[in-house]
Amino acid sequence: MDKIDKLVHLMKNSKKTIVLTGAGISTESGIPDFRSSTGLWAHIDPMEALSTDVLYNNPNKFYKEGFELLTGMTNAEPNIGHFMLAKLENEGFVDLLITQNIDNLHQRAGSKNIYEVHGNTREGYCTDCGEKVVIEHIKDKVKSGQVPPVCHRCGGILRPSVVMFGDGLPECFDKGWREVEKSELLIVIGSSLSVSPVNYLANICENLAIINLGETMYDYKAKIIINEKIGETLKTVYDRLNK
Ligand code: NAD
Ligand code: ZN
Repeated sequence: MDKIDKLVHLMKNSKKTIVLTGAGISTESGIPDFRSSTGLWAHIDPMEALSTDVLYNNPNKFYKEGFELLTGMTNAEPNIGHFMLAKLENEGFVDLLITQNIDNLHQRAGSKNIYEVHGNTREGYCTDCGEKVVIEHIKDKVKSGQVPPVCHRCGGILRPSVVMFGDGLPECFDKGWREVEKSELLIVIGSSLSVSPVNYLANICENLAIINLGETMYDYKAKIIINEKIGETLKTVYDRLNK
């Protein structure tokens, strides 16, 4: 039995399976991840460019550097890995998708039950009055030279609904935590599991499987580790589940 067969066996026998994805699932869509040597962050420090410290204390810098990194992701298209996860959910093999990604590609591929624990790049809000806006509203203001962009109601600074370094996590993280506790299998896909507190999910699950090209912080806990490319691996998993 190879590793993929072992994973297929676990999935067939699991009453509740949750998938946790990270930046690695979107590299095949052309979006750089954080920590591979070719990753975007070989040149820019995300902990600075995407931090609440810079956003609140130097909003001009945030809008000149960090914001563009975030909105650039929205031009990509979902890849076979995203599509296979949507099909696996549709056919009942995956119950919930928890993603650290903010690129919207799981939704666009057709996944339905998704917790975006690091927020999203579809919306934004006013840091003073909380008024919600669509991200295009912020983009338009920046394009027309309003940096930092401000709220039309109160003049407060607008920001994207992305969880940045220094921010707390949205409510769906706690919900996801409780779901993982109740699950029988967590499959981590394309994440180095080095961002807390999301990586703690790998610690509380009953069975852990990992599909990731590089090492992760929780390899020692995993029942199965598949160090292969995500797209083709998920396609094979899907085909074997349906054999
Ligand atoms: P990470 O960069 O720390 O880890 C990604 C992992 O995926 C690496 O170990 C890499 O070896 C592996 N990988 C890359 N391409 C792969 C492929 N084709 N097949 C198999 N494995 C592959 O990512 P992370 O753990 O998600 O942490 C990064 C943080 O940055 C997250 O919080 C996320 O919110 C954010 N981020 C998001 C995006 C996005 O939305 N697409 C992109 C960059 C960063
Ligand atoms: Zn406001």
